[in-house]
Amino acid sequence: MRAALRAAGIGGAGAAAAALTAGCGPGRPAADLSSPPPGPPSSPPPGPARPARPAQAAAPAAPRRFAGQPVEIGHGPRDRGRVALTFHGNGEPALARAALAAAEKGGARVTVLAIGSWLDAHPDLARRILDGGHELGNHTQRHLAINDMGEAEAYAEITGCAQRLKRLTGSIGTWFRPSRTQYATPLVQKLAQRAGYPHVLSYDVDSLDFTSPGAAAVIRNVTGTIRPGSVVSLHFGYADTVDAMPPLLEELARRKLRAVTTTELLTP
Ligand SMILES: [Zn+2]
Repeated sequence: MRAALRAAGIGGAGAAAAALTAGCGPGRPAADLSSPPPGPPSSPPPGPARPARPAQAAAPAAPRRFAGQPVEIGHGPRDRGRVALTFHGNGEPALARAALAAAEKGGARVTVLAIGSWLDAHPDLARRILDGGHELGNHTQRHLAINDMGEAEAYAEITGCAQRLKRLTGSIGTWFRPSRTQYATPLVQKLAQRAGYPHVLSYDVDSLDFTSPGAAAVIRNVTGTIRPGSVVSLHFGYADTVDAMPPLLEELARRKLRAVTTTELLTP
């Protein structure tokens, strides 16, 4: 059993379930979300609205427009020693907590793009993420191929997750990332803006961690292409990612690249 799974207290069944989790990138079959996980449905109806309860005492951060940046942002300034580690928020909560703990131990603050159905199943993770000084955003309600959807369905995917974030944290989150694609279509960009997100968050470094290639390959995939300003795509729910975090953060520190939130990356 891998160290991360031991650390997270997860056995083989958890690993198998995590392996079913779909990645963000293009080219992944839609079928792997078609088999519901065992146990109760992971997407209960929203139910009666709970009062807004900001996760932090301060007013929760709202999406910002960054002057000079395109609607779709793939990286930050190339002339400063900062990078953003961004996580697809889904999968086994123990692995998410382990990844957050590893980030914090290494002095990193990260950006989590949460799937709405994951927040429905694990609402406490929204507070855990914000309380760790990390950033929280929207990665659609169900993580389907949003670029292939019609306008009404795609908009509902964005607003469904936004409503959950608002209810849990008081904010719709600072970023939107489309599901199952690196880039949003012009329609999806327009719908994200309509839902309140001035920008769509893409990335320029793909760790390919969701293919479970082993921690060493995850580290190679990132360190082989990362440079100042990079936005790295990573995923909660995979043991390789957790195992990769400590050596990856050490290597970034050696290169004088500080892992900051996406807002910090883009703030002059
Ligand atoms: Zn994703």
